[in-house]
Amino acid sequence: MNTQQYTKGLHDLGNSVYAYLQPDGSWGWSNAGLVIDGKASLLIDTLFDLKLTQEMLDSMRKSVPAAAQIDMLVNTHANGDHCYGNQLVADAEIIASVRTAEEMVTGVSPAQMAALVKNADQLGQIGEFARYAFGSFDFENITVTPPDKTFDGELTLKVGDKMVHLIEVGPAHTQGDTLVHIPADRIVFTGDILFIGGHPIIWAGPTSNWLRACDRILAMDVETIVPGHGPITDKKGVAEIKGYFEYIFDEARKRYEAGMPAFEAARDIPLDRYASWSDGERIVVNVASIYRELSGDTTHPNVASLFGQMALFLAPGGQS
Ligand SMILES: [Zn+2]
Repeated sequence: MNTQQYTKGLHDLGNSVYAYLQPDGSWGWSNAGLVIDGKASLLIDTLFDLKLTQEMLDSMRKSVPAAAQIDMLVNTHANGDHCYGNQLVADAEIIASVRTAEEMVTGVSPAQMAALVKNADQLGQIGEFARYAFGSFDFENITVTPPDKTFDGELTLKVGDKMVHLIEVGPAHTQGDTLVHIPADRIVFTGDILFIGGHPIIWAGPTSNWLRACDRILAMDVETIVPGHGPITDKKGVAEIKGYFEYIFDEARKRYEAGMPAFEAARDIPLDRYASWSDGERIVVNVASIYRELSGDTTHPNVASLFGQMALFLAPGGQS
C-alpha cells in the first residue's frame, strides 16, 4: 500500500530506495529515482534542465550521504525531461538501451527546444504550445551527454549487493523505453510507460507494445510503482493506463475505418472517464500514432506539426 504524498522532492521508499517527485507531473515535470547500497549509488533519470537537476542532486546529497558521488545513471528513455541534466553527473557510468542512446542523438535537441521557446512569438500555434508546455524550463547550456554503456533487451546491474534489472519494453512511449526493477524491494521505476493522473503520449508506439509493457509490470511481484510523471502508484495505476489505451485504440480504429481524419477523430472521441486527467490534448498525438499504426506507416511523427495541432485542440472551440 502506497502512503507517499504527492509532494515535490525526495521520498524514502524504504531499503535505501528513493523517488524524486515533481508535481504536477504535466509537460516536463518528470520523476526520478535513487538506489543506494552501502556507498554505491544509482540515479534513475535526470531532469529537464540544469537548474532542476542540480536542485534534485543537492536535495539527494543533503539527505543521503552516499549520493555525494553518483556511480551509475540509467536513463529510462530519451525525452529531454529524463536526460537533459546528464552532464551534471557525467562522471557516473551512464547506461541506457541502444535505442534510447540513438534517440538521444536523433531526437529533439536542447538547442531546438531553446529556439522553440525563445522564438515562440513568431511561431504561431506551434510557438503558443511551446510556451504553454515548455516555457518554465531553461534549455540554455545543455550538452547532450549520451550513455557510456548500452544494452539490448535486458541488463542486470549491481548497486553494492543489490540487484537492479533493466528491462527494455519499447518502442512504446519512445523507441527504447526501459523499466528499472528492484526485485528484492518490490519496487519498479517505469519511466514514461506510466503517467499517473495525466494522459500518456504515444510518440513511438505501437500501442500493442505499450499494452505488453503494462502486462509485464502487472506480472511483476511489486508493491511500489514510480511512474515517469505523477504520484507513486501500485498495480491499479497500471491497469488504468492499460484500460485507457484499450479505449483510445478502439475508438480511434472505429473512426479510422469510417474514413475520419486523425485530428477530427481526436476531437470527436469522448474523453469519458479520462476527462479529469491532465494534458488531454495528447489525444491528438495518440490518435495520430494509432492511425499511422493502422495504415502500416512506420515513419516518425512530425513533432512540430503535432505541437501545432495540440495548440489548436486547446484553443477555444478546439475540443468538441
Ligand atoms: Zn517524461
